[in-house]
Amino acid sequence: MSLFDAIYTRQSVDRIDSISVESQAEFCKKEVIGQEVKLYTDKGYSGKNTDRPAFKELMRDIQAGKVRRVIVYRLDRISRSVLDFAGVIDVFQKHNVDFVSTMEKFDTGTPIGKAMLMIVMIFAQLERETIQQRVIDAYASRSKRGFYMGGPVPFGFCLRETTIDGVRTKMYEPVEEETDIVRQIFSLYAEPQTSFGDVMRYLEEHGIFKRNGKLFNRSRIRDVVVNPVYVRADYQLYDFFKAQGTVIVNAPEDFIGTNGAYLYSGNEKKRKSVSLVGHTLVLAPHEGFIDSDTWIKCRLKCLNNQSVAKPVKAKATWLAGKIKCAYCGYALTAKIYHCKTKADNRYYLCSNKYNTGGCHFSSLDADVIDGIVFEEMQKKLTEFKTLSKQKRDDGNLQRIERKAKIEAIDKEISALLDKIPSANDTVMAYINRRVAELDAQKKELYTQIARQDKEYGDNIEEINGYMEHWEDLSVSDKITVVDCLVENIHASKEEIEIKWKI
Ligand SMILES: [Zn+2]
Repeated sequence: MSLFDAIYTRQSVDRIDSISVESQAEFCKKEVIGQEVKLYTDKGYSGKNTDRPAFKELMRDIQAGKVRRVIVYRLDRISRSVLDFAGVIDVFQKHNVDFVSTMEKFDTGTPIGKAMLMIVMIFAQLERETIQQRVIDAYASRSKRGFYMGGPVPFGFCLRETTIDGVRTKMYEPVEEETDIVRQIFSLYAEPQTSFGDVMRYLEEHGIFKRNGKLFNRSRIRDVVVNPVYVRADYQLYDFFKAQGTVIVNAPEDFIGTNGAYLYSGNEKKRKSVSLVGHTLVLAPHEGFIDSDTWIKCRLKCLNNQSVAKPVKAKATWLAGKIKCAYCGYALTAKIYHCKTKADNRYYLCSNKYNTGGCHFSSLDADVIDGIVFEEMQKKLTEFKTLSKQKRDDGNLQRIERKAKIEAIDKEISALLDKIPSANDTVMAYINRRVAELDAQKKELYTQIARQDKEYGDNIEEINGYMEHWEDLSVSDKITVVDCLVENIHASKEEIEIKWKI
């Protein structure tokens, strides 16, 4: 295969003064050696990153060893970022691709070009180190309170050892495959019309899972979009948290748009609640990767959801339709008594009370009853998890067997496909029929596995997720959760009897 010269041209829309891709190509053609030349054109793409279709194609061709030289009109056509540029040049060098820029008379095929290249690489390294230093400086300048405090590592990160101010501690380090997913979650949820459910379905449809191989449920998605470990904390973010009443440890000038941040609060429940009052924000030693615009958009969406749900919460009860009078079986209804001196009181009353010969049920404090029922629900869930463990273990065995069957099928299919080159018509017909058969078997096995996953625990895990964010749920969401667990409740002053569905 003969190598060719590649001409790469790029023109962004935002620059009126920029030279057209056609003229760029004209200039570059003068540098072409030999006959073979291929043109790569990105029109309407800026140089702020290398995420451009033609550029990606060029890099693929280089990696496939098809390219001898890359010719551009000017250095900044490749990238405006020195770091990106250095990375690209690195790939060029690995594949013995010379690089020519017509404007700067830059040709890595010549000694002076090689020297210039080294200078570029040194600057890139310097910039890399400066960024790292800036991240660490901003972090360490004020307080040591941002040291890693333990706890589960958020999705998208792993832990690594580090030393800050002479103290050994740990910090987060991005895990590339996972950061891509986090970016996707943020960009999906930042759309005004997208709900957590939409994001959940998108991830499910695209086969994107959590670390443990399970699906993201709503509450895990929420955990992601409200966590400032992902954000590049800049002044806008500082303002946002300040306005929310959060205590901010670092000075505003430390918010330089690089570091992620930790959000702390005294207790776990508070950390997960919507309000940010009484929280403490401190810059973290790692680099964030979500821009503050997107992050704040998502956070505000969560706050707004809450304020919409509030008025409903005040007048209804999430036990609506479930809670009944223990004496007469009529429904209990929640009534609110407004009180000038203290918080409003909610009571349950029997709806049969004022009928002729009505019920003698006296009122019950609704907050107390709701609290007891909620605790019972939590207990029941724990119980259910232990009880269903045996069931799940059996299920796991079946799952492994089914996976093994799928593997065997895959092997047989690939063996059949190997025979195709030497197959006559009769053999071909057999191969087609057999592969279709095996495919159908495979599909059935996958369906069985999926059904099984649903049966054992997925549902329960999702309910658990909701329970963890109970305070943030709307009444209608709470009613849905209760409906998954509870058949009905009979209540009186003496006892509360819950009939479970699970
Ligand atoms: Zn009654």
